Amino acid sequence: MAVETWIRTAPGTAIRFNVLALGEERAGLSSVHLRCTVTLEHATRRLRGSGLVLPDRVRPEFLLQQQPSTSDEVRDLRDPSVLLRPDDVLRAVLDMLASAPVLRGLDLSDESAWDGEHAPRRVAAWLREQGSRWLASCPERRCRFEVDARLRVTRVFSEPRAVLRRCVEVAMQTVEPGSEEECRICLDEFRDGGKSGPVNLPCSHAYHAHCMLTWLDRGAICPTCRHDLAGMVAPAPWVAPTAWAAPTTASSSTATARRPGLRARGRR
Ligand SMILES: [Zn+2]
Ligand SMILES: [Zn+2]
Repeated sequence: MAVETWIRTAPGTAIRFNVLALGEERAGLSSVHLRCTVTLEHATRRLRGSGLVLPDRVRPEFLLQQQPSTSDEVRDLRDPSVLLRPDDVLRAVLDMLASAPVLRGLDLSDESAWDGEHAPRRVAAWLREQGSRWLASCPERRCRFEVDARLRVTRVFSEPRAVLRRCVEVAMQTVEPGSEEECRICLDEFRDGGKSGPVNLPCSHAYHAHCMLTWLDRGAICPTCRHDLAGMVAPAPWVAPTAWAAPTTASSSTATARRPGLRARGRR
């Protein structure tokens, strides 16, 4: 994939928590409210012409930052004991977060997609802690658990990865993974199974994919014959307006909860 997605909590007070004790006299159920504000950024990691070797998550060039969008999710606690079940709480938090338009389709449970703190885990831990305190003391009183999270999603289009992908699509793949030929960047044979497979460039020179990725951060030519690769870069998907459908409104979800005890309810 030429597009990487990083998710992180916004700097500063990224997540705020609040418990509201509502009176016994008020009808209705206790509930969990999750308000999520997401800022979406689009960035590009460019092919470099300099001799700089860049570390992995180098600060990319930011092309575009969208206005933050906010979504509100409310779940009634039909079965308050759900708060005592760690897996169910985490699943519910992930489900609530996933209803934010910008986060839809992302695997929020994958901790490696998060840059730093895994926000869903922190929110789930807080809900469990507060929930067990509440259930131990006065479960007959209605409670509202409020979470306000600010997240930042960065979609980074990697020109080096786009070039490699294009090479796989268009170049004749003459060097096979088990080949005795060697990668002219690291000088190891391709049959060394511990490394990434060979990628053939249109000039027919082949390199390990990861060796080539590092190389493309330094320059956009074949290390052996100086064949120019810069012309193989496709534009970032969000440059073409039709290719990237940006969320237009903050919306509240009407998704139905899949977990017992936490029932989704839409709110405007
Ligand atoms: Zn190599
Ligand atoms: Zn070449």
